[in-house]
Amino acid sequence: MIYETYTPEETKKIGQMIGENAKVGDMYCLMGDLGVGKTVFSKGLAEGLGIEEAITSPTFTIVNEYSGRLPFYHFDVYRLGDSSELEEIGYEEYFYGDGVCLIEWANLIEDLIPQDAIWITIEKELEKGLDYRKIIVKK
Ligand code: ADP
Ligand code: MG
Repeated sequence: MIYETYTPEETKKIGQMIGENAKVGDMYCLMGDLGVGKTVFSKGLAEGLGIEEAITSPTFTIVNEYSGRLPFYHFDVYRLGDSSELEEIGYEEYFYGDGVCLIEWANLIEDLIPQDAIWITIEKELEKGLDYRKIIVKK
């Protein structure tokens, strides 16, 4: 599935739609350069899960937990030193738990990602304008 957006709000809407349809055990793996819109998308997905709390980027905390229609575990592994930090926070409890996981920069920990994860790549195409994004969703 490929979506194209021209504003942050549109990207958020795509995330929201996916969040509305998310089920227990779903894992959404986000890929794409810094500033491409992974956190914007994540905020939409959280909204779709009925989370009213403000979502902040978990860059320094690795994971933030929220409760909505389902528990939501928002990871950002960009600054992860190595995977022992993930072991320390007990990542398996989240990955194989009772909620929905979303991981920004999941490609950096590809070896740990379950087979049935949904991969989402966000890309810019500068010839289509600064705010254009292509969002590729792979089941
Ligand atoms: P990331 O988490 O991938 O590092 P962020 O979501 O934090 O990126 O930031 C994306 C930035 O790009 C925001 O400043 C946002 O306003 C801007 N932006 C511009 N156009 C779009 C778009 N179509 N979709 C998402 N973000 C966009
Ligand atoms: Mg981010």
